Amino acid sequence: MSSAISNTYGRLPVAFTHGKGVWLWDTNGRRYLDAMAGIGVSCLGHDHPKLVAAISEQAARVIHTSNLYQIPQQEALAKRINEISNMTEVLFGNSGAEANEAAIKLARYYGYKKGNDLPTIITMESSWHGRTLGTLAATDSEKARTGFGPLPEGFVKVKYNDLEAVRNAGDKEPRVVAVLLEVLQGEGGIRPSDIAYMKGLRKLCDERGWLMMIDEVQSGIGRTGKWLAHQWADILPDVVVLAKGLGGGVPIGAIAARGPAAGVLGPGSHGTTFGGSPLVCAAGLATLGALESEKLLENAAIVGAHLKAGLESALKGTPGVLEVRGQGLMLGVELEKPCGVLVGRALEAGLLINVTRDRVIRMLPPLLINKAEADEIVKILVPLIKAFNAEQ
Ligand SMILES: *Cc1c(COP(=O)(O)O)cnc(C)c1O
Repeated sequence: MSSAISNTYGRLPVAFTHGKGVWLWDTNGRRYLDAMAGIGVSCLGHDHPKLVAAISEQAARVIHTSNLYQIPQQEALAKRINEISNMTEVLFGNSGAEANEAAIKLARYYGYKKGNDLPTIITMESSWHGRTLGTLAATDSEKARTGFGPLPEGFVKVKYNDLEAVRNAGDKEPRVVAVLLEVLQGEGGIRPSDIAYMKGLRKLCDERGWLMMIDEVQSGIGRTGKWLAHQWADILPDVVVLAKGLGGGVPIGAIAARGPAAGVLGPGSHGTTFGGSPLVCAAGLATLGALESEKLLENAAIVGAHLKAGLESALKGTPGVLEVRGQGLMLGVELEKPCGVLVGRALEAGLLINVTRDRVIRMLPPLLINKAEADEIVKILVPLIKAFNAEQ
């Protein structure tokens, strides 16, 4: 089919006209259970009254002014982000990649100020940090990187969830300034890291004077049942990267910093025209407010555990199913064989899911999903998986 849009996505043959909660309706009036939430973005589901009101009211007053002026909504959202993350300062951008790019620049500047001539960042196997050149250099995906070289230097990749690998990389490269990682990898296949690993990494970063930078773009904003996934390990990083769920659907990214990472970037060192506008910050404030007042972190933990248990028990003993994993409402089912075809079959059955790393079925439903809706996911998805695995 010819299109006016560049062909960078293999799009499914469906368009949605409206939604409510976890449900979306297509142009034919058919209803779908949205277990993807726009890739973890629409954490309050669709048509959430508080978010719609906040965006509408702010749009009617003023949408954009720029960072040449004070922006009270930005100040208020930064304060709230500092509270939920235990950080002390926030820098806004417009996406996950852009926020990671800011974290990378912060780490490099931190090294530069110490006279480091090649500030190097340790990153992880199967990581995902975005598609700009800098974040692509930090991302471990051959598919995403191929054809886009030369990529910026200054990154060393190590085995994920392996503290010794990080230590060895630091021994080999004295110019390391930071470690950048997802503590629960998303695009990499819903891969968790151990609590002992996160604690050990924190300690190692302290010993070596490295910044610990955690990319919570997908795992943050309540998705795992805490505001940030690393909070399960009770550690405090130096930089936290946020985007996806932060605006409930509007494009917003941010990094929050503390300790040695605070105050590194000064006037003129970084900037953004759109970042942190009154409109997106009003949306961010309403999103964080609703997540809190409606106890959606607790809900993510409870319904997430219910959904995981439901999938585990319904798939138990099914040939071709390797593992159900993840935390809260960030879940994956790994199969033995590539299963991208299941996305289209689920769509036909009225369910929106996604497959990452070829063999991992991924679910990132809105955080307000209830147990009955989670049961509906199991009811639709499990027979599809069983039928698929039974095929030759
Ligand atoms: C989605 C994602 C990004 C990139 O975010 P964009 O908004 O697509 O640029 C970065 N890091 C992680 C962990 C992500 O899941």
